[in-house]
Amino acid sequence: NNEQAAAKAAAVNADSGAPTIFDKIINKEIPSSIVYEDEKVLAFRDISPQAPVHVLVIPKFRDGLTELGKVDARHGEILGQLLYAAKIVAEKEGISDGFRVVINSGASACQSVYHLHLHVLGGRQMNWPPG
Ligand code: 5GP
Repeated sequence: NNEQAAAKAAAVNADSGAPTIFDKIINKEIPSSIVYEDEKVLAFRDISPQAPVHVLVIPKFRDGLTELGKVDARHGEILGQLLYAAKIVAEKEGISDGFRVVINSGASACQSVYHLHLHVLGGRQMNWPPG
């Protein structure tokens, strides 16, 4: 509705980062394979999967959440919701017995999209250390 659209626009405008491809995914302007969605969180399959299950979990309102290294105390609640959504995704995808959650923060960690996201990976043996 209009109220939600205005809130979203305000959140995006308050954000220091430029819009990303994930805004288009949230707004369904480009298609994605959605695994889970609620009021605050969207989870969809990564376009370039690195495991049989590879789902991205993102906040619908970026609100300054460009990268983990820049979050603020006020983001605590949504960060918890994202992690909880990762658990729901793992259950839905049948990988509850073993899965990995990754957040790449910043260029040195190979972050490529500056809209905070959790990678939920599983369906194969995950190795350690990661690359
Ligand atoms: P990062 O490298 O920032 O941690 O992860 C960004 C992820 O977004 C990558 O794994 C990449 O494959 C995924 N990605 C980039 N563009 C799209 C897209 O248009 N659709 C989907 N589903 N995933 C995307």
